[in-house]
Amino acid sequence: MFNPTAEAMPLAQLRALQLERLQATVQRLSERVPAYRTKFAEVGVTPDELKTLGDLHRFPFTRKSDLRDSYPFGLFSVPRSELRRIHASSGTTGKATVVGYDRNDLDVFAEVVARSLYAAGARPGMLFHNAYGYGLFTGGLGTHAGGERLGLGVVPISGGNTDKQVQLIEDFGPEVIACTPSYALVLAEALRRRGHTPESLSLRYAVLGAEPWSDTMRREVETRLGVKATNIYGLSEIIGPGVSNEDVHEQQGSYLWEDHFYPEIVGPDTGEVLPDGEFGVLVLTSMTRTAMPVLRYWTGDITRLLPADNATGRTMRRMDFIQGRSDDMIILRGVNVYPSQIEAVFGQFAELRPHYQLVLSRTGIMDELLLKVESGRTDGALGREVVQRIKAQIGVSVTCELCEDGSLPRSEGGKLKRVLDLRGAR
Ligand code: ADP
Repeated sequence: MFNPTAEAMPLAQLRALQLERLQATVQRLSERVPAYRTKFAEVGVTPDELKTLGDLHRFPFTRKSDLRDSYPFGLFSVPRSELRRIHASSGTTGKATVVGYDRNDLDVFAEVVARSLYAAGARPGMLFHNAYGYGLFTGGLGTHAGGERLGLGVVPISGGNTDKQVQLIEDFGPEVIACTPSYALVLAEALRRRGHTPESLSLRYAVLGAEPWSDTMRREVETRLGVKATNIYGLSEIIGPGVSNEDVHEQQGSYLWEDHFYPEIVGPDTGEVLPDGEFGVLVLTSMTRTAMPVLRYWTGDITRLLPADNATGRTMRRMDFIQGRSDDMIILRGVNVYPSQIEAVFGQFAELRPHYQLVLSRTGIMDELLLKVESGRTDGALGREVVQRIKAQIGVSVTCELCEDGSLPRSEGGKLKRVLDLRGAR
C-alpha cells in the first residue's frame, strides 16, 4: 500500500497540491460554516487572500474551544443526512467534542491508516490484533478500517480484558498489534507470566500511539514483545489515528501524510510560524475532509518537523515524538485530564490549600498520577477521601500526599510548577 504517486510525489507537485487543497478548504469553510465566516471576518481575511502557502498564517487558528462552542454539529459543512459516522473525544467533564465523517472522509481515513500500517511493517495477508478502544473514540474503528483497506485480517479485540487478549494472541498468531505503548507493556507482562518469551510470540510489528512515549519505551516494548515498534499519531479533530506514522526501517520521526494534512509549527506563546527543525506547537489543517474540515487546528502538542529521509522514497516531512503539551493537559492512561479539574475537586475540602503539584510517573508499567497538596490536616483519612472524590467526579485513579503548609517548592514568582511529567525521564 506504499503509494508512490502520493507518498513520493515530487516536492514541487506536493506543494502545488497543498495550495490547491488549502484554497478549496478555506473557500468551503467560508461558504458553508457560519462560525468560520465569523472568525475570518473578525481577523479581516477572505479566502482569496490565500495565494501562496506562506499566506496561511493570516488565517485564524481553530481551538478545542471552537469545537465545544459549536457542539454538537456547528462546524459541519454537510447536511446531517450525509454523515456516515460520528466520533467524540473523551472529554472527561462538560461537553465532549464531536467530529463527523461523510463517505469521502471515511475513505480518506482508511487510506491514511492503511499507509500508516504499511509504513509500520504490516503487509497484506497478515493478521492484525487491534487493541485500540472501539466506540466513540477514533482509535479502534479508525485503525480497523485502515487494516481492512490494506488487506489485513483484523481482530477487533478493542481495549482491556487482558486475559482474553493473551488467549487470542496465543491462538490466532497475529503478526501486527496496535494499542497504546503503555498497554503494550501490560500485555507483554501478561504474556511473560503465561510463560511466553519474545521469540515464541507471533507478533512482529507494533503500531503504538494515542499517548506520549519515547525511544526508551520503544526499546522496552521491542525487547519484551519481540517486535519492531513505530509511532502512530493522530487526533479526532483532524481525522483520528493515521495523521502520521514512522517507517519501520527508519524509526526516526513519523511521516506526516502531507497530501491530506498540512502541518505548521508555531511558537506556543506567539503563534508565529517557526521554521522546520524548531520545536513548537503542531498546528494541522485537514485539506481533504468534507464533512468537517478544520483549519489551523491548535493541537497543543509540542514537536518539530524533520525533513523527509530519501532512503524511504517519501517526500513528506516527518514529525518528532511529542515532547509535551503547550497547555497543562495530562493524558493519564488514555484519559485527558486538566489540572483545573482536579483543583476544582479538592477545592471542595476546606482543609486543603490551593498549593499543589501533580507528578506523573510510570512506575513499572502503568502511569501514576500523584497529587501533592498542602493541607492543614495531613492524616490518611482525609487523603483517602480526596482520592475517592477525584475518582467519583473525574473518573481517574490518583494517589494523594498531603503536605505541611509551605512545604511544596515555589518558583521565583511564588508559582509552583503544577505538572511534573517524569514519564519520559526513565
Ligand atoms: P481524546 O483522547 O480526547 O478522545 P484524541 O484521541 O483525538 O482525543 O486525542 C488526541 C491527542 O492524543 C493528541 O492531541 C495527542 O496529545 C495525543 N496523542 C495521540 N497520538 C499520540 C502519539 N503518538 N504520541 C503522543 N501523543 C499522542
